[in-house]
Amino acid sequence: MLTDQADAKSRKPGNAILAAIPSVDRVLNMDATRMLIDEYGRTPVLAATRAMLTELRDHATRAHTLPPDALVEPALHSRLQAALAQAARPALRPVFNLTGTVLHTNLGRAPLPDVAVAAVIDAMTQPCNLEYDLDDGSRGDRDSLIEPLLCELTGAEAATVVNNNAAAVFLALNTLGLRREVIVSRGELVEIGGSFRVPDIMSRAGCRLREVGTTNRTHLPDYADAISSKTALLLKVHTSNYAIQGFTAAVAEKDLAGLAREQKLPFIIDLGSGTLADLGKLGLPSEPTPQQSLANGADLVTFSGDKLLGGPQAGIIIGRRDLIAKIKKNPLKRALRVDKMTYAALEAVLRLYRDPERLRHDLPVLRLLTRPVADIEAMANFLLAVTAQAVAGQATVAIRPCSSQIGSGSLPVNLLPSICLAIAPVTRNRGVGSALKKIEQAFRRLPVPVLGRIVDDAFCLDLRCLEEKYGQEFITQLKLLSLS
Ligand SMILES: *Cc1c(COP(=O)(O)O)cnc(C)c1O
Repeated sequence: MLTDQADAKSRKPGNAILAAIPSVDRVLNMDATRMLIDEYGRTPVLAATRAMLTELRDHATRAHTLPPDALVEPALHSRLQAALAQAARPALRPVFNLTGTVLHTNLGRAPLPDVAVAAVIDAMTQPCNLEYDLDDGSRGDRDSLIEPLLCELTGAEAATVVNNNAAAVFLALNTLGLRREVIVSRGELVEIGGSFRVPDIMSRAGCRLREVGTTNRTHLPDYADAISSKTALLLKVHTSNYAIQGFTAAVAEKDLAGLAREQKLPFIIDLGSGTLADLGKLGLPSEPTPQQSLANGADLVTFSGDKLLGGPQAGIIIGRRDLIAKIKKNPLKRALRVDKMTYAALEAVLRLYRDPERLRHDLPVLRLLTRPVADIEAMANFLLAVTAQAVAGQATVAIRPCSSQIGSGSLPVNLLPSICLAIAPVTRNRGVGSALKKIEQAFRRLPVPVLGRIVDDAFCLDLRCLEEKYGQEFITQLKLLSLS
């Protein structure tokens, strides 16, 4: 043992141990280190070597000893290798979303279809006609890349795209309502999460909020009575993330549109999660669509690109040509515009909507949301034994029915039946909570983190979002799991 040898050589054991720690140069010249330099580059290996040796010296100084074999070459190299691998790991990485929330805002919302990913790669690796009109060789408008498609799919006259739906609402309000009043129902002054609150966006956009009605009931005369010479527009916000039940009343889009037209005021609807597909036909809870809102008489409709639409993060504004033209002229449009990656991915996703029969299969969001329970159950059966083995001695695994949520502002009361692996710690009552947290953490700290949800006495992995093509990768992670 190294410490014994060191003790034998010196009356000051601490110094002898320190002396036994190799120099930076010696480590760098070891054969195995040269291989690490080939893989990771000289500068990172030098930095990692220095850090490792400092750590060993600190340890030796503190404890007057080092763990046995700490200084043998293979041990030094596996420490170095681990440190380099850790440092080389990207901060943004893939995870398994087995939380049961399909459109999880914290986990990047919609997964993109392969065609969109391929389009992004093309746009990123080669020059492209982002703002160049290939017909007459002049400067072009980047919106013209997707505007015809959006108009075709929604029946809108014009369309534009910005960074996200929060930006879309902000830009529309700032363009059409600056220093004037915007009329909104009290029941629609929502917080979407992550600090998007309608009243805050409104004031930052330079508009004055004119609330009408009450939290649970608002009627057409409430709007009509509030209209004055200061009024800029009427706004309706789709209160997607909560439901007011019981004695409620809201004014229909059609009626508000009629009032707005009579008063020559623009009527804007913030739809939030705007899907272009008829979800009811797919067996899912129905959601209002932008095309319906336009047909109901809205002048502008805003919605997200990465919620139910299933595309990249973006905010889409569709509607009247004259209003969209004003929005495009707002200098803030430049600040909120999206880059070529977004146009590439969005165009590819929108094209899928041209073929409604194949959409359900080709668009990952809809494929996951409409996945048959039998498929999810087959996945559970396939994974049961290997999962049980991975947690053996610490927990038991059972297949249980559960409920998935759509997420991202779709009604939380609309649940989709699903199947999960329920991992329950083997412990007698006391300590169940901490045992569950330990299991949750072990899964979360895997190289490809596996994220689930603690429900009652078990850590649950909802398998709706684990498609067959990722099954093998999941098993690889299970084999790396360490619960002890
Ligand atoms: C989600 C949502 C927003 C914000 O959309 P982002 O694309 O996340 O910026 C705004 N309004 C409503 C009604 C929403 O549901």
